[in-house]
Amino acid sequence: MEAQNNTSYWQQHVDYSMDVNVDVEKYQYSGTQKLVYTNNSPDVLSRVYYHLFFNAFQPGSEMDMRLQSVADPDGRMMADGKSRIASLSPEEMGYLRVNSLTQDNQAVSFVEEGTILVVELIKPIPPGGKTTFEMTFNGQIPLQIRRSGRNSSEGVALSMSQWYPKLAEYDFEGWHADPYIAREFHGVWGDFDVKLTLDKKYVVGGTGYLQNPEEVGHGYETPGSKIKKTKGKTLTWHFKAPMVHDFMWAADPDYLHDTLKVENGPMLHFFYKNDKEIVENWKKLQPKTAEAMQFFNKNIGDYPYEQYSVIQGGDGGMEYAMSTLITGGRNFGSLVGVMVHEMAHSWFQHVLASNESKHEWMDEGFTSFISSLCMDQIMDQKKENPFAGSYQGYYNLVASGKEQPQTTHADRYELNFAYGVAAYSKGAIFLSQLGYIIGQDKLMETLRKYYQDFKFKHPTPNDIKRTAEKVSGMELDWYLTDWTQTTNTIDYGIKAVEADGQKTKVSLERIGLMPMPIDILVLYNDGTQETFYAPLRMMYGEKENPYPNLKRTVLQDWPWANTNYDLILDKELNNVKAIVLDPSQLMADVNEENNVWQAQE
Ligand SMILES: [Zn+2]
Repeated sequence: MEAQNNTSYWQQHVDYSMDVNVDVEKYQYSGTQKLVYTNNSPDVLSRVYYHLFFNAFQPGSEMDMRLQSVADPDGRMMADGKSRIASLSPEEMGYLRVNSLTQDNQAVSFVEEGTILVVELIKPIPPGGKTTFEMTFNGQIPLQIRRSGRNSSEGVALSMSQWYPKLAEYDFEGWHADPYIAREFHGVWGDFDVKLTLDKKYVVGGTGYLQNPEEVGHGYETPGSKIKKTKGKTLTWHFKAPMVHDFMWAADPDYLHDTLKVENGPMLHFFYKNDKEIVENWKKLQPKTAEAMQFFNKNIGDYPYEQYSVIQGGDGGMEYAMSTLITGGRNFGSLVGVMVHEMAHSWFQHVLASNESKHEWMDEGFTSFISSLCMDQIMDQKKENPFAGSYQGYYNLVASGKEQPQTTHADRYELNFAYGVAAYSKGAIFLSQLGYIIGQDKLMETLRKYYQDFKFKHPTPNDIKRTAEKVSGMELDWYLTDWTQTTNTIDYGIKAVEADGQKTKVSLERIGLMPMPIDILVLYNDGTQETFYAPLRMMYGEKENPYPNLKRTVLQDWPWANTNYDLILDKELNNVKAIVLDPSQLMADVNEENNVWQAQE
């Protein structure tokens, strides 16, 4: 069941200052962290939790154990059928250790539980209270296994995501101290001030605005300006990132660094290896990135930061605050596709920060939806149904019998396959099918309002539903409930078409449990067409005619509990050529065969 928020909205706030030294030869780092934590909740907090994500990359970790037991492990994390984590040596594994921790200058006790640090406070934090945690920590960067790590398969030296002790989120549902098992994150909104000191040959990109570009150079300086030569082997990079919930960076001595200003938008930065196989594609990628940014600005709402960076690194594509890490050795279409997907996450995760581990369909699904539309436009694909792949994936999952409801925690699906389809495909269909229910214009209006109302917050499933209700005037609780909290499927069909005097009787039936309104297209032998619309009674509303060039007749509501529904056509049977339920194919009907009736030749 979906937890309900019975309180008025609040969210916690963090202000991080970190000063970190990185030894690029030993792949180790150490630093200090000062965290000012504001408790905006109505509760007294006597404990806090930090994530220590790098501890996942150790033999025997929960991530390792899960890899060894899941039937379809991620191929990137396996070698010769075995978990790559299991064989990491002490020099190759990752760790993140907190060495000392104080709360308002008094030492507190803490205990490490795998990838989580549990801290018992000596001074409970009252509602509205502020407290300051100061710690020293050190870490080792693991071999690249998943998302972050050293020496990626494409030779990127440091992909630094999930790298610092990160306070867990506390919200209306309580603490979210999820162990790092496979995926999906939830973080606290706040401001970051990060100083990174490392070998001065390395070029760094990531979250945040560089505060000392004229000292650092490496393509950040004002063009034409002279960089002061510094003594010593290292350089300190000072970044600030306002209102984000994560901080990522990547570094490599061979990065090329290009910039491109989006018209009326942010500065785009590109970091990629000087590898002749990929350079041409990465140059061509740059104007496409600007086009994608403008597409999202127009269709969802303005990107709120002044900078976005596309960085070669990691092991596929992963979204971060103001940036992404993607692999670079791809054909051009795939390179644009992964950039578009990860950049779309800037809206659906890094500004609309849903709890991904509980509602993975809200970030992966909505991102897939909007990136399909964006690719259609910027790559001029003009697909009849840009979401066709998502529908096919969903139908395959249903047929496999392995579907679990979307309320399943992202780490606890039986199969990675079932997680992937539920999050990406069924999540994308949540929106494309919502467009079928409320109309395409209302859908796009819903997305823009959702962004306006919930940016820099943690929207929940109920928030997207309520937004769609307010925009459309319809009741949509049935949709959110059946689609996201059950595995009920949609199957409507044409049962019979028969003569009824001078008229024709079309008998429709509902076979699946999930309710839907029905669009019906009728084609006649004289070449004319008309449509009919049977609204679902429990939605208490009607969409506008999706086919304005065709005559539409709004029929009486179809009450869900009635499995049968008759439609009378004002023409003789021998005039009727074909009848089609949902000609848009945006309704995810698991049995399409009974959606079409054709007259015998
Ligand atoms: Zn994604």
